[in-house]
Amino acid sequence: MEQIEWGNSGITSSRIGLGTWAIGGWMWGGTDEAASIATIHAALERGISLIDTAPAYGQGRSEEIVGKALAQGGRRAQAQIATKAGLTFRDGPDKPPFRDSSPARLRQEVEDSLRRLQTDVIDLYQIHWPDPRTPLEDTARALEDLHRAGKIRAIGVSNFSPEQMDTFRGAAPLVAAQPPYNLFEREIEADVLPYAKQHDLVLLCYGALCRGLLSGRIRADTVFEGDDLRKLDPKFQPEHLPHYLAAVEELATLARQRYGKSVLALAVRWVLAQGPTIALWGARRPDQLDAVDGVDGWQLDAAALAEIDAILARHVPEPVSPAFMAPPL
Ligand code: NAP
Repeated sequence: MEQIEWGNSGITSSRIGLGTWAIGGWMWGGTDEAASIATIHAALERGISLIDTAPAYGQGRSEEIVGKALAQGGRRAQAQIATKAGLTFRDGPDKPPFRDSSPARLRQEVEDSLRRLQTDVIDLYQIHWPDPRTPLEDTARALEDLHRAGKIRAIGVSNFSPEQMDTFRGAAPLVAAQPPYNLFEREIEADVLPYAKQHDLVLLCYGALCRGLLSGRIRADTVFEGDDLRKLDPKFQPEHLPHYLAAVEELATLARQRYGKSVLALAVRWVLAQGPTIALWGARRPDQLDAVDGVDGWQLDAAALAEIDAILARHVPEPVSPAFMAPPL
């Protein structure tokens, strides 16, 4: 498994990270604890040492399951835990989350996360979404205090613009950012990606499989159950889905003919080809990680990268933004 150093933080992790949003159940149609724990163990066995979670994923459920899985067999020492803060469910579990990165809130949240994760230190602590009502400097200084107190090893932000990161970095050292990034959602190429390269930030790219669209498993008649967020994602609606599926088909042909790989392996390899990136891979069953082996040990050449761009331009010339996922301001 390829590794990446996180700036000068002293932390190194795998370049594929396990995404555990679905493991929390919320917006993914429920969870299965035994399968989730087995998935986390399977990730570690495959060399995926980075586990990304958040209190928002099932309102603590994902963190609890990650904590349980890592407590078994002394696995905590093999893993880097990335979790988040700054979203609350003050209006109830069925209402949209509310942004709150005030220092008092962060001091409370870190204790709750440490308890749920059954650990005494969080490797990467990220602000989940920028909170427009708390000055960024106050949030940054609160995280720096947690860093100095030894509760977190490194500081990250998620869904921040370069301007917001600039302000934040004026008050605390930033090691990582977590934006949406995959073949179909490339907005960060205009700003966040060059910014990360310039300032030595690691990018934990979420949605590397575009919520399963790039797995090759989604069909025009795939049905999503319960509160599954793909019922809301515009890409999965009839006016857009056929264009995305046509692109997936051509990408799959390219992956197979040129490299003998799956479209899923191509999609993850592509994210890793773009810079100081980590691909977050959302999985909730161990067998979903069988495909990880297909990502390592090969590279996309310049001709293939150009061909990929041509396929995307042909089928999805005006890609749908991932902005639909943003919690209300
Ligand atoms: P994702 O990784 O793009 O896709 C997950 C989907 O891929 C699931 O639907 C899963 O299928 C499917 N899948 C996984 N392995 C597969 C395989 N081998 N074959 C076929 N399908 C496969 O989506 P994501 O979970 O939204 O994103 C990854 C992680 O990024 C999250 O878990 C979370 O940690 C993080 N994230 C962060 C933010 C943020 O605001 N910071 C936002 C979104 C995500 P099933 O449906 O069958 O399980």
